Amino acid sequence: MSDCLFCKIAANQIPVKRLDEDDLSLAFADINPQAPKHLLVIPKAHYATAADAPAELLGALLAKAAALGERELPNGYRIVINTRDDGGQTVHHLHLHLLGGRHMGWPPG
Ligand code: IMP
Repeated sequence: MSDCLFCKIAANQIPVKRLDEDDLSLAFADINPQAPKHLLVIPKAHYATAADAPAELLGALLAKAAALGERELPNGYRIVINTRDDGGQTVHHLHLHLLGGRHMGWPPG
């Protein structure tokens, strides 16, 4: 989508710190980190929410986030997908938050 922020990031039109990349996905640092380490994993293709994406892609994105968590955050981490307004989604291109580097509280806000 031409006016989608994360599509522009995936297409290299907006610079970010690219931490991992393959044919399907890109991982980069969140601009407003909510934990000492806060990465986003996005599909390069545009899907507004997790409900819009094919199951195989969701599996690949989750596996990617978990692999990055294992690599970067050996003490543990949280993977979050905010979905639409009540879920707290502000960028309407599917993304997984990978958060860690501190103890995560529960329940989330
Ligand atoms: P959401 O609230 O779950 O949709 O998460 C969107 C995330 O994108 C937020 O954590 C923002 O800080 C992050 N974000 C927005 N713009 C940028 C950017 O240009 N670079 C990196 N992260 C961004």
